[in-house]
Amino acid sequence: MGRIQSIQSFSTLDGPGTRCVVFFQGCPAACLFCHNPESWAAKGGEEIEPETLLLRLERFRPFLQEPPGLTLSGGEPLYQPAFALALAKLARADGWHVALDTCGWGPTKPFRNLVKNVDLVMFSVKHPIHPEALSKLNPDSVLANWQLLAALETPVWLRYVLIKGWTDPPAALTALGQLAKDLPTLERIEIFPYNSLAESDWQKLQWDSPLFHEGNIIVTEEEVRQAENLVRKSAGLPASLFPS
Ligand code: SF4
Repeated sequence: MGRIQSIQSFSTLDGPGTRCVVFFQGCPAACLFCHNPESWAAKGGEEIEPETLLLRLERFRPFLQEPPGLTLSGGEPLYQPAFALALAKLARADGWHVALDTCGWGPTKPFRNLVKNVDLVMFSVKHPIHPEALSKLNPDSVLANWQLLAALETPVWLRYVLIKGWTDPPAALTALGQLAKDLPTLERIEIFPYNSLAESDWQKLQWDSPLFHEGNIIVTEEEVRQAENLVRKSAGLPASLFPS
């Protein structure tokens, strides 16, 4: 039994091909730029068995390309590791391509177990040196989980949000390149510009984030390209890792 916030029946943005996305309820990371703060509370959402959830997902399967994709997102799926593992195993046995969308939170053992039972990991690095500046993530714990990936065969996509003055300094981008360089299973690096729509999500909850009072934190598309170049060149990475 686990808790989900919602299901998205069709997505082309949460992994390869076309996919369903299950948003898990509960996230302890508390990122200052979170687009889904309603998912944070551990006790919210809907309680459901993994078998029942998979049956519900099967209804959307005819509308997806083969193989049908399923992304475990959130919230943080690793906040409910047993539930996430059960769903991943059931879905893969039923022919789904399963992706884990994670911030790298949590102890290494459940992280390893889950990664070994999915087809793709999409690891959102909040900050390569100081994730604690933007979230409640423990830097050592996130780094341990990132380093663990090198010993496993599951392909990895690295995802990163570019926020002016926070995640775009050259030292951060160079460190991001080093993280990428050390991971032989890395297939892709996606750098996204910060999207200010997060502010309305927080306002709905009557919450506030210090990030929203920082002046202009929005980067341009050109600045995203410059950041990609810096990450790539500083670590000698192939251009093929960058999709755009
Ligand atoms: S890890 Fe994701 S869901 Fe959790 S707080 Fe950060 S952005 Fe939000």
